[in-house]
Amino acid sequence: MASGAVRARMVQRLAAQGIADARVLRAMGTVERHLFVDSALVNQAYEDTSLPIGLGQTISKPNVVARMIELLLGAPALAHKPGERLGRVLEIGTGCGYQAAVLSHVAAEVYSIERLRGLHERARVNLRPFRLATVHLMLGDGMVGYAKGAPYAGIIAAAGGEAVPEAWVTQLAVGGRIVAPTQSASGGQALVVIDKTARGLERRILEAVHFVPLKSGIA
Ligand code: SAH
Repeated sequence: MASGAVRARMVQRLAAQGIADARVLRAMGTVERHLFVDSALVNQAYEDTSLPIGLGQTISKPNVVARMIELLLGAPALAHKPGERLGRVLEIGTGCGYQAAVLSHVAAEVYSIERLRGLHERARVNLRPFRLATVHLMLGDGMVGYAKGAPYAGIIAAAGGEAVPEAWVTQLAVGGRIVAPTQSASGGQALVVIDKTARGLERRILEAVHFVPLKSGIA
């Protein structure tokens, strides 16, 4: 598969859809998304669609991955540093490992936690050929965050709960940002952005989204 050209088209589409951050577009153009999906789905890998990754879970569509990472890079600590990388990032819900790979291009260190052993192991296999020394995969319940890697410059969730767990706020550095799908007042889901500043927490609710549920415990 001549994936470079297909990926370049995907990046053009992302830019046309409003993704403007060069760091994000570069990362999306670099990571070979087709290597993370089932071989039967390879020819859909660069379409703007979510795809099944096994065990009832899905990989978000490219537009949503790019949008959330762009928001993450808007963290207060990076506000006046265009082009710079984030420090340590925590991802809740490794899934197939695709987003972790994209994050590794915009952050110094990526800690990614998954509660389903089958997917945690699949992500390990998927990521091995990329030899990403800065990506750390953990099997565990991300509802409690991952204290060993804290404080984080950014926390990004790929699964949506009723509210943003207190542990994530605690483990966020001052100047850091959380981007997470959370239950909205209307009963659906919306993206929530929480900034931790010297003055306290600033919370914004953005567009509606559809993510798999955030669940507790390991399975
Ligand atoms: N970022 C992933 C998308 C995975 S879908 C990718 O690029 O493929 C969301 C994932 O969150 C699922 O694999 C699900 O098992 C996981 N998840 C749900 N609740 C979790 C929790 N409390 N801790 C860790 N992972 C969780």
